Amino acid sequence: MAKKQFKAESKRLLDMMINSIYTQKEIFLRELISNASDAIDKLYYKALTDEQLVFNKEDYYIKIAVDKAARTLTITDTGIGMTQPELENNLGVIAKSGSLAFKKENEVKDGHNIIGQFGVGFYSAFMVAEKITVTSKALGSDEAFKWESTGADGYTITPREKDSVGTEIVLTIKENTEDDQYDEFLEEYRLRAIIKKYSDFIRYPIKMDVTKQRPKEGSDDEFEEYHEEQTINSMVPIWRKNKNELTQEDYENFYTEKRYGFDKPLKHVHISADGAVVYNAILFIPENTPFDYYTKEYEKGLELYSNGVLIMNKCGDLLPDYFSFVKGMVDSDDLSLNISREMLQHDRQLSLIAKNIKNKIKSQLQSMLKDERENYEKFYKSFGRQLKYGVYSDYGANKDVLQDLLLFYSSKEKKLVTLDEYVSRMPEDQKYIYYAAGESIERIEKLPQIEVISEKGYEIMYFTDDIDEFAIKMLMSYKEKEFKSVSSGDLGIDSDVEKDQAEAEDSGNKDLFESMQTILSGKVKKVKTSKRLRSHPVCLSAEGELTIEMEKILKAMPN
Ligand code: ADP
Ligand code: MG
Repeated sequence: MAKKQFKAESKRLLDMMINSIYTQKEIFLRELISNASDAIDKLYYKALTDEQLVFNKEDYYIKIAVDKAARTLTITDTGIGMTQPELENNLGVIAKSGSLAFKKENEVKDGHNIIGQFGVGFYSAFMVAEKITVTSKALGSDEAFKWESTGADGYTITPREKDSVGTEIVLTIKENTEDDQYDEFLEEYRLRAIIKKYSDFIRYPIKMDVTKQRPKEGSDDEFEEYHEEQTINSMVPIWRKNKNELTQEDYENFYTEKRYGFDKPLKHVHISADGAVVYNAILFIPENTPFDYYTKEYEKGLELYSNGVLIMNKCGDLLPDYFSFVKGMVDSDDLSLNISREMLQHDRQLSLIAKNIKNKIKSQLQSMLKDERENYEKFYKSFGRQLKYGVYSDYGANKDVLQDLLLFYSSKEKKLVTLDEYVSRMPEDQKYIYYAAGESIERIEKLPQIEVISEKGYEIMYFTDDIDEFAIKMLMSYKEKEFKSVSSGDLGIDSDVEKDQAEAEDSGNKDLFESMQTILSGKVKKVKTSKRLRSHPVCLSAEGELTIEMEKILKAMPN
């Protein structure tokens, strides 16, 4: 029988597919299993709308079988199967999603989701297989067909016997080459690990014959091998479970299993969103700062699943930078996922989910701050700096999200306080929110300028983090109160009388001040009388935008 050619665009795609799109070969199994699961979903959906059909969930499964000697890996499903034209259309045209067409035809109702998001999923099998044979019998059909291809040179379709409805895909695994290893895809343990990694939460059992050992009959020390069929996947993902059924420990185990961190999570958020976009998510706020957190190496992101199938390990688009510490996963059936990350970035559903998640994290942090102050301070110790970077970056675009999550050390309370707490305690005559920047609390407390402000009964926020003052500059004000550095020229506390007095003293000591200025030339701009000194004879103050501390930091930065 003459070989049929793939459609031209398919040929090119196939090449691309095998050579570049997927960096990890192992994902071929994820794709085939997800197709098998889709095929069972379709049957399930048909059964729901057709009274003649009975769907017993137990009869439906996916089976993985290995034959090392023949170098074959077989994936069998008891799904809806494919007719001859379907084999032709679905497997002969790459990037045409058959699932999507089915979805449109059948107007799938909420909850019965058959997704066609992979486009070229099936072809990923050519990354590991030199030959693929698909035998399929469609629901309601008496005949079965075999589709066979060795790659870009085309495919054949011929009639073949098959008893039951469903599809059997046989991959003949490539031989190892110097550069590439393929033998691993014939190893039980490896396959099991891949299934666990990507397809653990597929709703139907994924069965495999596993090799086991037992004592040989009539012998104490001899063992024999035997095979036992096992279900590899755990089927019901924790995020699909009801929150009420889950304990704190369940979430902690999940956190550990997933290796989100080596610590225990400080907080988890379990979301089952049912609005404009439907998704489930479990998010964690870690307790400790990951060792590489404040470095370039750290990569933010959440795991992204589509209908129980892992699509991406770290989807960065799901998290704003200022919440980059959040770990966890998102699962949505609504994603019109595509093969390339760029396309994913422009997905409207994905950005809706991202926005939703951002708000959830924010309100979680807010309620922690309100109801679990101690926990919040733990969190703040680990990740507060990131929030302040968030205020500072993007020209303060995110200040509304973040300003109420900030904490600074208070001169009055001797502990961390929020801006709101500060402002709500301000005496009526206090015009500004005062802050003092320095290396440590101890050093700040020795600043001469502190005295006069404290004497007035005003509270001062101590900034000990490099980023603090920069972030505050971006905020400019909070609840209409401007921020004022204690080292700035005009503190806004001198009365007119005091100002006049100072000016009089300035002119009275003109010669003295001028010669001091000459001596200190290049170090200070001006020497003048101050009314803000108490027990100290002298202090430094800054004029203009940059404070002394900020200048220090900028000078210390590498150019
Ligand atoms: P997608 O899954 O995005 O549609 P694939 O390349 O993974 O793209 O699969 C192409 C099409 O082939 C599917 O949409 C489906 O119609 C058909 N198909 C693949 N595998 C199976 C299977 N095991 N049973 C039934 N149909 C299948
Ligand atoms: Mg697919």
